[in-house]
Amino acid sequence: MKKDDTLLLERTIKEVVHELGHTFGLIHCHVSNCVMRSSTYVEDIDQKTIHLCHRCRKTFEEGAE
Ligand SMILES: [Zn+2]
Ligand SMILES: [Zn+2]
Repeated sequence: MKKDDTLLLERTIKEVVHELGHTFGLIHCHVSNCVMRSSTYVEDIDQKTIHLCHRCRKTFEEGAE
């Protein structure tokens, strides 16, 4: 796989995880590497990871209403 394809795939996965987070009741997060951080530019997407931060994970596990 080319490097660009990997990057594109990574961005897509992050956006999917982010949207899924909303589906599970998570709101936007301000932690820079949290997947629930709102991203306006692709550069923002590249900064975050595909993972939830500690707080979002806790919310997710407790099940937000
Ligand atoms: Zn969002
Ligand atoms: Zn978070």
